[in-house]
Amino acid sequence: MFDKILIANRGEIACRIIQTARRLGIRTVAVFSQADAEARHVALADEAVPIGGPAPKDSYLRGDRLIAAALQTGAQAIHPGYGFLSENPDFVEAVTAAGLVFIGPSAGAIRKMGLKDAAKALMAEAGVPVVPGYHGPDQSPARLADEAARIRYPVLIKAVAGGGGKGMRLVERPADFADRLASAQNEAATAFGNSAVLIEKYILTPRHIEMQIFGDGRRALHLYERDCSLQRRHQKVIEEAPAPGMTSEMRAAMGAAAVRAAEAIGYAGAGTVEFIVDASAGLRPEGFWFMEMNTRLQVEHPVTEAITGIDLVEWQLRVAAGEPLPANQDQIHATGHAFEARLYAEDVPAGFLPATGRLAHLAFPATARIETGVRPGDQISPWYDPMIAKIITSGPTRALALQALQGALEATEVAGTITNLDFLIALTRHPGFRRGEVDTGLITRDLAALTQPLSPDSRAVALAALGLAGLDDAGLDPPDWTKGFALWQPLRQRIDWEGGHAHVEIPAPGLFRLHLDEVSHELRFANDRWWVDGAPTPLRLVHHAAAVSVFGTVPVTLKPLDPLARQTEVSGAGLTLSPMPGLVREIFVTPGQEVKAGERLALLEAMKMEHMLSASRDGRVAEVLAAPGDQVEAGAALIRLEEKEAHG
Ligand code: ADP
Ligand code: ADP
Ligand code: MG
Repeated sequence: MFDKILIANRGEIACRIIQTARRLGIRTVAVFSQADAEARHVALADEAVPIGGPAPKDSYLRGDRLIAAALQTGAQAIHPGYGFLSENPDFVEAVTAAGLVFIGPSAGAIRKMGLKDAAKALMAEAGVPVVPGYHGPDQSPARLADEAARIRYPVLIKAVAGGGGKGMRLVERPADFADRLASAQNEAATAFGNSAVLIEKYILTPRHIEMQIFGDGRRALHLYERDCSLQRRHQKVIEEAPAPGMTSEMRAAMGAAAVRAAEAIGYAGAGTVEFIVDASAGLRPEGFWFMEMNTRLQVEHPVTEAITGIDLVEWQLRVAAGEPLPANQDQIHATGHAFEARLYAEDVPAGFLPATGRLAHLAFPATARIETGVRPGDQISPWYDPMIAKIITSGPTRALALQALQGALEATEVAGTITNLDFLIALTRHPGFRRGEVDTGLITRDLAALTQPLSPDSRAVALAALGLAGLDDAGLDPPDWTKGFALWQPLRQRIDWEGGHAHVEIPAPGLFRLHLDEVSHELRFANDRWWVDGAPTPLRLVHHAAAVSVFGTVPVTLKPLDPLARQTEVSGAGLTLSPMPGLVREIFVTPGQEVKAGERLALLEAMKMEHMLSASRDGRVAEVLAAPGDQVEAGAALIRLEEKEAHG
């Protein structure tokens, strides 16, 4: 076994790998960009090496620096985590050439699965069912349109080099084909430097079910399936294992196909074979098709660990160190059920836009397994994936594991940035999901209901208002009754916040009467908890960076009124603002140019997606305030339009 390994990654996955390495007595070297000097993974590792600027291309994608850091610290092996260089065969070759071990599959195996067209051809040859479609070399639009017609609509256009849901377009009618093809090719060319696409039959009522496999280069086995059908924009939101409704026949067929796929390429290490499943008539052994293989540890691997009791990172380390597979197929058993929810800093109602911010408050319940790369006070930076944590629960049955997930999410406390927490909670309450009726269209179909703001509990609003007025100290021990108010006096004071106000009275020391628009509540603090209208509550009040949050129910955050805030309003000024932190990829206009409403102005990339910004009205470009390559904050002005007539 290795004495020391370098982890070529950041965030939760770097922390996760360190944990297992430590348990096995292996020392760890972290690497970090300038944006990550204070990050949790750096603090957890035994040593840490700076590798460059905040942009991934200047640090986490610099294979040469990663290898130099490993050599310099005496690490014998490199664990790539997921993302970044984890599926880059050139990096694997460079690592090996430097005399180091790559903790993962060979460069050859990665190459064989790297492009979706070649992988499909290879799998078809190995007898693995693949989605009907065209994955040939002729990329002329006419040929591709012919193939789409032959396959029959609806079809899916996919970038052969795709990943993370990019470069993918659903086409339902022949009339849309040409446009969608062009946009898929463009996105693929920008994101992957490869515009080639394949055409696939779009499976109706699709479910995404994947098999966790593990190989040692000679043989492979599977560790059951995961269902990842709960997706938004083709990206996973909640994963579970086993798949609801899975039969032993179908598992046997899918497991055998996955193992065949792995053995066909002499696979070593952890991998995932993804299948698309036609769930229109239940799960059937003949109703699944190979989509792609991910030649790395997957984000959602903890649900597999939860049902099998196997530490996948331990297996990765042992196999990379030359041990054979630690078990045989018949020694792998699954018990119970597990879920993983991905908590992100993102604005769900605005279309899942990535967000940033300082985590002024962050607390998780002890009832769930939490994988996180951040601590309270840490910054969610615009440079990387805005994941805050993965929340994993398990239980003897699906219903109990899901109940545990809902409870864990409801007890999760985050303040300082927008998150998808309410959305995740809404998902755990979704009747169809609760019944196990999952398919990849569920979120889109029910988006309006799932993103309905949860109505706040007026008791929590009252307590937050009290906190905002700085009166909650009075509830502490020893009380400070003098704060803001005179003893005994039944004063009435107005409390204002962004979006509302209340009045407070203090009829007696330590007793607060809060009048909201519709209701009034009486609050007092006794025996370590807040009592509202005479009843004890689980409500907890947290002060952070000029705002106040109350947890213990649907979270409420109140911000004091900021008289300056209104001045930054720009409506009518003709400014196109960046709706989120991101990277300006392209600017399509130049000063003086006339544009029509709807015309594209700039292309912004925020983590895994591209967002086109277009003109909201006709006008003339007065100023271009950003350039391609600029990293911009949410709200940054990018383009200023003026009325066409303005200068004659
Ligand atoms: P998975 O396929 O395991 O569910 P995701 O959907 O989270 O992974 O990610 C999609 C793609 O984005 C994958 O290729 C993954 O490797 C990559 N990715 C995910 N998280 C990160 C990250 N933090 N940094 C870089 N790439 C990432
Ligand atoms: P990526 O490399 O971006 O992960 P995948 O090929 O794995 O691309 O597809 C991502 C998602 O798109 C799947 O999880 C599934 O939801 C959907 N999808 C892919 N292929 C099909 C198909 N043929 N029919 C229906 N949905 C599909
Ligand atoms: Mg995929």
